[in-house]
Amino acid sequence: MASRVIPVDPFDLVVFGGTGDLARRKILPALFRRFCAGQMEENALIIGAARSPMDDEGYRAFVSAALEEFNPSGISDTEAVAGFLRQVSYVALDATGTEGWQILANRLRGRDAVQAFYFSVGPSLFGALAEHLHSYGMAGQGTRIVVEKPFGRDLTSAKALNATLAAHFDESQIYRIDHYLGKETVQNLMAVRFGNMLFEPLWNSQYVDHIQITVAETVGVGGRGEYYDRSGAMRDMMQNHLMQLLCLIAMEPPAKFDPDAVRDEKLKVIRALDPVEAVDLVRGQYEADEDKPDYRSQVGDADTTTESFVALKARISNWRWAGTPFYLRTGKRLRAKVSEIAVVFKETPHSIFGPEAGRHRNILTIRLQPNEGMDLGVTIKEPGPGGMRLVDVPLDMTFAEALGPEAEDVPDAYERLIMDVIRGNQTLFMRGDEVEAAWAWTDPIIAGWEARGDTPQAYDSGSSGPEDSLMLMHRDGRKWREIRA
Ligand code: NAP
Repeated sequence: MASRVIPVDPFDLVVFGGTGDLARRKILPALFRRFCAGQMEENALIIGAARSPMDDEGYRAFVSAALEEFNPSGISDTEAVAGFLRQVSYVALDATGTEGWQILANRLRGRDAVQAFYFSVGPSLFGALAEHLHSYGMAGQGTRIVVEKPFGRDLTSAKALNATLAAHFDESQIYRIDHYLGKETVQNLMAVRFGNMLFEPLWNSQYVDHIQITVAETVGVGGRGEYYDRSGAMRDMMQNHLMQLLCLIAMEPPAKFDPDAVRDEKLKVIRALDPVEAVDLVRGQYEADEDKPDYRSQVGDADTTTESFVALKARISNWRWAGTPFYLRTGKRLRAKVSEIAVVFKETPHSIFGPEAGRHRNILTIRLQPNEGMDLGVTIKEPGPGGMRLVDVPLDMTFAEALGPEAEDVPDAYERLIMDVIRGNQTLFMRGDEVEAAWAWTDPIIAGWEARGDTPQAYDSGSSGPEDSLMLMHRDGRKWREIRA
């Protein structure tokens, strides 16, 4: 049984940066899958826009190649591919020039459809795009714009970007994407917390010992070396993706599942974060593997002090979380590709089974990848004779197994988020003040490293990160969960 497809209003979508990597790998395949799911009207326009000179046929060939590479299972349906490509066209334009803009405006004029513009270009072009959309009459009230990360590289630049967009668009028209928020499990996190009686009463510092959030990658910086080296793990991952996960785990129940109610609660979490002390921060850089170069050679700078790994201990100063630390880590070239949140509950106040039963804790693990799902570690009696020995076993709910084909059919993050843009639902998008608050917390961390001349600690490729990150938890009498697929 296929997952239920909820109809959306007719729409046109312009992808600025339509010839770029993100368009090829994510946006175009996502649109094709939504087309196949029947969520695109027959006359919907998908328009790629970039500087490269190309006609519609040339762009269709580009899109077709992208589908072949990034959506190989879907292209066996040649009729569907042909149908989708009929709706695709291209306009050559420069974000900063005038050529091409009138052609785009003419193509969209008089259309009775939601019009969305995906800014899949570097942030330095956001202002020019917004300006041109306005001056060529494409920034009407119903228009929506989608902007990609990075949203600034510090508080000042994020404020400037917000101001640039605000000059032409209302906040309700701006969709700042964090694709982590489009993941099925992330939304399930809210369903589990606020749709069940079981967890919420325990969701506080009285019962939760600590929370761990891990986003580990096995790949290095690859071809993105130059970009990455200007950013680092703190800006590229922690300030946005991990921070968003932290917010969803820690926020108070919103009064309703509505965009501003949810985002208000997330914002309160960010604002309640304490500044992070130097002793609670660890940075790392990966070393060479047998056949793969180290970080410094990959980015082409032997003296770079940018981190490919960061771990930290965060504290939230509010009634719910005072005393419960949040340990966050993310890095490249680690042992396995894993994204998970682990809520580690406290031990029972007293063991009636005596010391031989050992010490046990319930751990609720929310896995974003691999095998999206959750498991709850519960303590039971080890089977067999020989007294009361206890053992922890998982109550595992891998979504694909629990829900069958329906779970395998769920849209990926980009599909869901693009459709939310069309629906006008901003719940899973970051609001301007949220992004600014996240930078306000991140900036002093980075400034501290710079002021101290901090250098990242080396770690082996394929490891769990630098030694000091293990110490970060050891010294609190805790330990990280193993990084394994
Ligand atoms: P990219 O491969 O470098 O593509 C950039 C696109 O922008 C190309 O289509 C380029 O085409 C177009 N472009 C550049 N200058 C232009 C101009 N003056 N006027 C009009 N079009 C122009 O970059 P990308 O990887 O797709 O990333 C796009 C944005 O998404 C960036 O902000 C990036 O940080 C963000 N992002 C990317 C990823 C990813 O996985 N790739 C993930 C998250 C966020 P022409 O050269 O033909 O003009």
